[in-house]
Amino acid sequence: MLTPEDLQRYSRQIILPQVGQAGQERLKAARVLIVGVGGLGAPLALYLAAAGIGELILVDPDHVSLNNLHRQILYAIEDLRQPKVEIAARELSKRAPTKITTHTQALTEENAADLIQSADIVCDGTDNFTARYLVNDFAIKHGKPNVHAAIFQFQGQISVFGANQGPCYRCLFPNRPKNAPSCAEAGVFGVLPGVMALFQATEVIKLILNLGDPLIGRLLLYDALAAKTSEIKFRRNPNCPSCGPNRNESFLSKAYSDLQSCEMNPTVPELTPLELKQELESPNPPIVVDVREAHEREISTLPNTIHIPMGEIADRIQELDPNANLVIQCRSGGRSAQVAAYLLGQGFKQVRNLATGINGWAKTVDPTVPTY
Ligand SMILES: [Zn+2]
Repeated sequence: MLTPEDLQRYSRQIILPQVGQAGQERLKAARVLIVGVGGLGAPLALYLAAAGIGELILVDPDHVSLNNLHRQILYAIEDLRQPKVEIAARELSKRAPTKITTHTQALTEENAADLIQSADIVCDGTDNFTARYLVNDFAIKHGKPNVHAAIFQFQGQISVFGANQGPCYRCLFPNRPKNAPSCAEAGVFGVLPGVMALFQATEVIKLILNLGDPLIGRLLLYDALAAKTSEIKFRRNPNCPSCGPNRNESFLSKAYSDLQSCEMNPTVPELTPLELKQELESPNPPIVVDVREAHEREISTLPNTIHIPMGEIADRIQELDPNANLVIQCRSGGRSAQVAAYLLGQGFKQVRNLATGINGWAKTVDPTVPTY
């Protein structure tokens, strides 16, 4: 039940006909698990608490360090070396009446079932594949929606996995990556996790209130440098080891070994424009798939490409031969890396990304091609 203080505190939200008192009560009754209270989890927790979520369950084994502060805005200089979840609980309690439950250990195979079952919705704010696969697989197993976000340098992604029979992270990326750089090597643009965390908070609240179109079966990508978003639509993979009918626990647990990486997704092999030029002149040239939009092809194109815009890849996947030697190309190599990772996840055998895209080709191979 909402208190008189609640009615006042949330009045600007309650006045929205899509929320109302009934919606605010649903938010108050909701329990949301946030795995990782760092760049994503800290701003996510702030906004979920402010919105009136009844209980936040925070899981993070880390302590606050100085190099966290440029993005993890719950924490201050006097909090250095303190457990993040405890500082987060203290700071959130100052701001909102949300109940905060804290866990100072990492999410593991041993505690994941209990933690995930204790929540209505799970938020993946982790920064490594081990935890990302753990969150995904246990959320699927226990029928909880998993609101996922990940960041890498200037790029972010967000999706809602496992809700309403929708696909999961492993439908996109069944296997863990082989070689990925560590967090310290990768770097992160400080505001980016905040942007993605607010996308997450929005999706959490929409799920609780059953509002709008949730990001189910859609991976929304945000490129901060280009100030652009794009989207990959994807379906449930009937052979998915996590959400498919033949869930494979032994396959899944192989991903839970200690693998630390800040990348968003498994890495894909790539080639440079010069290498592509040489291969295109060889007796067995690869097939180049241009995943840009039609209006971009009016500016520049490579010879003999197949054109499938990124947003149509899942619907038109049957136009591509899974055994063919494919090179995926876009403007500068970002979107094409996502599509290449998706195709590899769908069982395509030989897929590479054209690093630096057609703009890189213009710079290093053919200066007559315009850049944009
Ligand atoms: Zn799946």
